[in-house]
Parts: sequence; C-alpha cells; structure tokens
Amino acid sequence: MRSPFETGERAAFRDTIRQFVAAEITPNVNDWDEAGEIPWQLHEMIGALGVWGFAIDESYGGLGFDDCFMRAIYNEELAKCGAGGVAAALNGRMISIEPIQRLASSDIKARALPDIVSGHKGSSLAITEPGGGSDVAAMTTSARKDGNHFVLNGQKTFITGGMKAQYFVIGARTGVAGLDGISLFFVEPDTPGFSRTAIERKMGWWCSDQATLYMENCRVPAENLMGEENAGFLAIMENFNLERVALIAGALGAMKVCLEESIAWAKDRVTFGKPLIRHQVIRHKIADMSMRIDATESLLNMLCWQINDGGMPVAEIAKAKVFATKNLEFCASEAMQIFGGAGYLRGNAVERIYREVKVMAIGGGSEEILRDLAVRQMGL
Ligand SMILES: Cc1cc2nc3c(=O)[nH]c(=O)nc-3n(C[C@H](O)[C@H](O)[C@H](O)COP(=O)(O)OP(=O)(O)OC[C@H]3O[C@@H](n4cnc5c(N)ncnc54)[C@H](O)[C@@H]3O)c2cc1C
Repeated sequence: MRSPFETGERAAFRDTIRQFVAAEITPNVNDWDEAGEIPWQLHEMIGALGVWGFAIDESYGGLGFDDCFMRAIYNEELAKCGAGGVAAALNGRMISIEPIQRLASSDIKARALPDIVSGHKGSSLAITEPGGGSDVAAMTTSARKDGNHFVLNGQKTFITGGMKAQYFVIGARTGVAGLDGISLFFVEPDTPGFSRTAIERKMGWWCSDQATLYMENCRVPAENLMGEENAGFLAIMENFNLERVALIAGALGAMKVCLEESIAWAKDRVTFGKPLIRHQVIRHKIADMSMRIDATESLLNMLCWQINDGGMPVAEIAKAKVFATKNLEFCASEAMQIFGGAGYLRGNAVERIYREVKVMAIGGGSEEILRDLAVRQMGL
C-alpha cells in the first residue's frame, strides 16, 4: 500500500535491505534452519548496513539518528526471507542495545556498543526465568551488594542469542519484592559463576539459539549496574515498546510472504479443471489475507509516525502487536489451506511461518498480557 510517510531515503533503505535479503539470506534459509544456525559472517554483513545503529551515538558506531519507519522497514524486509529464526538470531541483540546505550557507563558503552552494532559480537537481554516470564515484577534472580561488587544468583531462560552472546543485560532483584526492587546489570559470560546451556528441540526459530543462563555467586563490578538501583522495572517496560514494534513489522513481513506464496501456488495449481485462483472460496481467502495486511501496515505506519513525533503510545503498540500476531495466525493458517498437502512438507516458507506464529504471539509480551496492559492504560 502507498504510504504518505514514504521518503526517498526510506525507499532507498528498503531497497538495500530487500536486495540483501533476496541475495544473501532467502536462498539459504532452509539449509540454515536445518543446520540450526546462521553463519556469523551474516551478523557482520548486515551490521555493516547500519540496521542496529538507530538511536546509537556515532561515537559508539551508531547512526546518530533514529527513524521508527526505517526500523520497521528493516524488520519487515528481513522477515520476507520466510524464516523467523534468521531475524531472531540476528536481532536477539536489538533488545539489549537500547538499555546499554541509555543506561550503561560510558566505559561499557565504548567497549561493547561498537562490537554489538557492527555485528562482530552478540548481546542478549535476559529477563524471563524458569518460574515465569509474564510477571516480570516477580523475578527471583538476586543481586546482593558486596563492597564494590554485586553478586548475582539465579537462572534465566529462553534467552535469544544467549549461547553466542558476549554481552548480557540481566534483570535481577536488588530490593523489595515487586516492581520496585529490580535492577539491570551488564554481565560478560567469562565472569566466574556464569554458565549457560542451549534449549533444544524447539517448534520453530531453529536457526537461532535460545539459552538458559545460570548465575551462581556471579560477581560483577558495581559499575555494571545499569541505571539507578531498583529502577530496572520501568527500563524493562520501556524497552518492550520498540521490541513490540519490531515484532509487528516482522509479523507484517511474514504475512506478506504467506500472501505472495499463496497467490503463486493458487495460480499454478489446477483443481476441478481450473487454477485454484479461479475458485471463489480461494479468492476470498486471498482477499481476507490482503485486507489484514493492509490494516496491519496502516496501523504500523501510524505507530511509527507517533514515535517519530516524540510519543510512545504504549496501549496502541500493545493492541497493534496482538492485532498483528492474530492476523499472522490467520494468514499462516489460510496459506497452509491453500497449499493443501504440499504445505505440510518441511522446507517451504508457509510451513515454517505456520510453526513460528506462536513464538510471535508469546514473545515480547503475550497476547493475554498485552490485552491486559492495553485495558490498564485505558485507566480500567
Ligand atoms: C523462542 C523464544 C525466545 C525468547 N527470547 C527471550 C529473550 O531473549 N529474553 C527474555 O527475557 N525472554 C525471552 N523469551 C521469553 C518470553 O518473553 C516469555 O516466554 C513470555 O514473556 C511468556 O512468559 P512464560 O513463557 O514464562 O509464560 P507464563 O508467564 O508462564 O504464562 C503462560 C501463559 O499464561 C498467560 N498468562 C500469564 N499471566 C496471565 C494473566 N494474568 N492473565 C491471563 N493470562 C496470563 C500468558 O499469556 C501465557 O499464555 C523467549 C521465548 C521464546 C519462546
């Protein structure tokens, strides 16, 4: 759909990402997904395009400016490779970059950000614990002050990129129970007392890694406290907003793949003497998918406009993320129907996207939690 927000710069950025994805990623996604990883070189190649530099100071290797539309364009175009695991592997770092830029000491920023933004090294944000992820205020990992150090104890799980990350932002309890006792820490994996294991046999996102992290008397310097002590909950909540916008854009890209693959298949496949695309039921499925894509895209553009305008529409982002993942669920399911038995075979984008719907609907705030947040933001 045409957008009033399109500019020459954004169109050029979209072209660059689209061409890169088509040439360097899409032809390889089946192999990478089956192998369970992407080559590290891809982090560096796409990092060189500046995709992780938004809102990061130029002195730390960033772009020195932000543009929510370009963030969304990057996530949408990357999702068009048809494998969410690629985006997860590359962008696991994204949710930790912003807290590092905003809250870490200048020494840490100077050391870590150029590595992360360029793609030379990975970073992860670790909030979820084996005991639960939705109720962030109930986290139990502790950080006890001991002289010039904090001592961390506890576990984190489902941490995207966590097996390869060389930098972590970890949430831990430094104070009272509830949301007023949480802080964020910068932790490096060679710290004594830190270990990690991979989560195996996932439903989707095969070519990305997720880790469980273990901290047993893991001592980090007091300077690794990020931001104010006990003010981490708000930072975590604020960080979710741009993660959710990225997930909306990723869902949009995946929906477009479902539509395009369905149209191509329906033009080619003949049943009852005519191509599928000439059967009215199939045409209506195409129309239903297309109208959901248009609606999601329009909503995403309005969110980007508001964010660029200095706002952070928390409730609208939450609702839009639910809307996007519900629409993705619909498009993936209808695309599978149009493909029939062929859709059930491994190695095609529709089958993969269908398996990846649920992680989009759960990660970054589940549909239930986001509906609840939206209603609370209405003052109810
Ligand atoms: C592939 C993958 C990658 C991930 N990457 C990361 C990462 O990089 N970093 C990180 O910190 N976390 C990550 N997560 C964790 C993710 O954020 C959590 O899975 C998510 O927040 C939900 O937490 P949970 O799985 O513990 O579910 P729970 O909190 O146990 O909830 C279970 C179900 O109950 C529902 N529910 C919970 N409370 C309520 C309520 N009050 N009312 C109604 N329904 C409710 C939830 O919506 C959910 O459907 C990842 C998860 C996956 C699967």
